[in-house]
Amino acid sequence: MKRFAVLQLSGCSGCEVALLNAEQWIDNYDLEYMTLVMSAYEIPEVEILLISGGIRSEVDLYKLRRAVCKADQVIAVGTCAISGGVANLGDRQAVNEIFLNEADRLHLPDILPTCRPIDTEVDVDLYLPGCPPTPDLFMAVLEEKPDLKIARTVCQECGLKKERDMRPKHLLGFQQGEVLSDICLVNQGYLCIGTSTRGGCQAICTLAGNPCVGCRGPSDAFIEKDSQVWFKSIQRVFSHMTDIPGTEIDQALRSPQLSMFLFQFADYADIGQAPRPKEKVI
Ligand code: SF4
Ligand code: SF4
Repeated sequence: MKRFAVLQLSGCSGCEVALLNAEQWIDNYDLEYMTLVMSAYEIPEVEILLISGGIRSEVDLYKLRRAVCKADQVIAVGTCAISGGVANLGDRQAVNEIFLNEADRLHLPDILPTCRPIDTEVDVDLYLPGCPPTPDLFMAVLEEKPDLKIARTVCQECGLKKERDMRPKHLLGFQQGEVLSDICLVNQGYLCIGTSTRGGCQAICTLAGNPCVGCRGPSDAFIEKDSQVWFKSIQRVFSHMTDIPGTEIDQALRSPQLSMFLFQFADYADIGQAPRPKEKVI
């Protein structure tokens, strides 16, 4: 049986819960280490090391450097490992002020100046984006499926009907209005970015009536491009399908509830790092 471990850095444990939901691995893989469900101090030598969470503290950095030496293959899993995710929001000034106040942070690990994705520190063999990735995607990386079929975009997996004559004039909020189950959410005035988000999740959000917020990150068409190219593409989709002013779309794309995922569409320019190669992204 193949041996694998899951190293959790700063994140929310959502990826681990998604992996536990993918119960097909249980008969074929030995899970050697995952702090969410088992107590062990050290990661043993393993064939596959899945890493979730970003590098937020010195403890994260220490654990990461020690763990990657023990694995044949290193896989970055989820938004936090790939772009910083939830913990990245801690780079905001208000959060910094609380955490960097020494009196308030007794017993906390030393916080690094910024939260970083793991490939700023170690080599990564594969990237599995998602927040969290679905159980099927976890199985795909564990089983190294060479024939895995993933659509280029969430939009292709979604397939909701696009209507020429249904052109909203303003955006609806995420939780507003009654959602029609067979019509594209953009036609209904929701900010769905499935047109530029990589497929693989089987459009679980949009088919349940929730707009795609891009947790799988950019599709291959955008992964190596500047974030402005992506911004323009979303604007084009909305001007083609709706009468919503571009300024309204622009403002909504910069809203806090999307920022966690949209880092993935914009992170390279900020950290001065070369784009991760699309061949390595599941
Ligand atoms: S709801 Fe979103 S993902 Fe589905 S067809 Fe419309 S734009 Fe594409
Ligand atoms: S539909 Fe979008 S937000 Fe939902 S799981 Fe898929 S990529 Fe993530």
